[in-house]
Amino acid sequence: MEELPQQIGRYRIDRLLGAGSMGTVYLAHDADLDRPVAVKTLRDLALDPETREVFLSRFQNEARAAARLHHPNIVQIFDVGDDPKVGPYLVFEYVPGHTLKQALKKRGTLSRDELLDLAQQVADALATAHIAGVIHRDLKPENLLITGNGQVKLADFGIARIPNADLTKEGQFLGTPCYAAPETLRSGEYSAQSDLFSFGAVIYEAASGERAFPGTEALAVAHKVMSTNPIPPSEANRGAAIPNALDAAILRALSKRPSDRYASARTFVSALKQAYDGRRPSKSRRRHSGLPLAMIVAVGILVALWLWVEDCNPRATNAGGGADAGTDTGTAAGADLGTGTATATDAGPDALSPHEREEAAKDELANARTALERGDLAEAAAALERASAFDPNNPDIGELQEQVLAAQPDGG
Ligand code: ADP
Repeated sequence: MEELPQQIGRYRIDRLLGAGSMGTVYLAHDADLDRPVAVKTLRDLALDPETREVFLSRFQNEARAAARLHHPNIVQIFDVGDDPKVGPYLVFEYVPGHTLKQALKKRGTLSRDELLDLAQQVADALATAHIAGVIHRDLKPENLLITGNGQVKLADFGIARIPNADLTKEGQFLGTPCYAAPETLRSGEYSAQSDLFSFGAVIYEAASGERAFPGTEALAVAHKVMSTNPIPPSEANRGAAIPNALDAAILRALSKRPSDRYASARTFVSALKQAYDGRRPSKSRRRHSGLPLAMIVAVGILVALWLWVEDCNPRATNAGGGADAGTDTGTAAGADLGTGTATATDAGPDALSPHEREEAAKDELANARTALERGDLAEAAAALERASAFDPNNPDIGELQEQVLAAQPDGG
């Protein structure tokens, strides 16, 4: 067994926490700040000096970007260093508890409530990171740490993968490709959509207890990920009583084409909730089911005309900051932990990424609901129009528009 280092950088090593695909994780003590930390070393990369240099500088840059993320569902990066004895290392917040992998091994599958709770927390973490331009790149059950009170923390954010990772080069692909997206395996592409694929593979496993792309041989698994569709989770585990709608919701996240997946992790979670609970007709739909179609169309045209005038609202056309998620938005994300979307909403639709547009639409839907509750139909309709400009495919827009129509005195 490998000897425990006594000290790494300024951290005193207490014990081994685990060994992962990238390196070894130790529980350590930060004497300066008097707190426990998790120190992760990188295993010997066996790279030539030039490639090692490039890798390490990328590793440091990406660790810095990830260190700007502050969110209760993200394991905080505290420090990064290069120790003369053990080489490059990262220092993380220490999270006592267990991993999702351990939980699934022990219990098999998660219940509806557990799965939705976990999915929501992961989606919140991803939303914050994606808005800050940080891609996780390695979402898998081992990287989901769960504390004693059920808080989920996503570890290893945005850490550089080995350069030119290529499955055909023996030993170059770190870890298992079971959760990697097809475009990542094919051409090394990482994006919010590739994180979403990995998220889908994690949820598949949490619901069924089985891997979406089973196998032990990396190349064979990678081939499956790139070329075959997984069997529905309900077939992978017939004892798990998975509703058909949940099968469909999970399989969509695992679509081969990134554009066929959900627009964001949060939309995926909404789809999971709907799949478990089934869509119930909204109150307004039931109340007004007898309204003649012609009247609905006529009122719709009137409202549309009025909204067109409202569209000049400066909030909807201000294509200001917040659009450049890839550069300097880490601080913004850190300061806006609750939603992480304030800047996105203030930017015009064209200035935003698809993910940001979808989050902005959700903000506008929340505005519409609040306006509707206080009876301000004009503001509700204007917010809906803005939501529609950001993300016309959001299914809640139609439902809220119906409610606005229904609230008009005699069809407005
Ligand atoms: P991998 O490289 O496979 O993602 P890691 O090297 O990140 O795995 O982690 C190995 C193990 O160390 C994890 O399974 C977990 O048990 C433990 N671990 C990692 N990070 C932390 C942390 N911040 N706090 C507590 N335990 C951790």
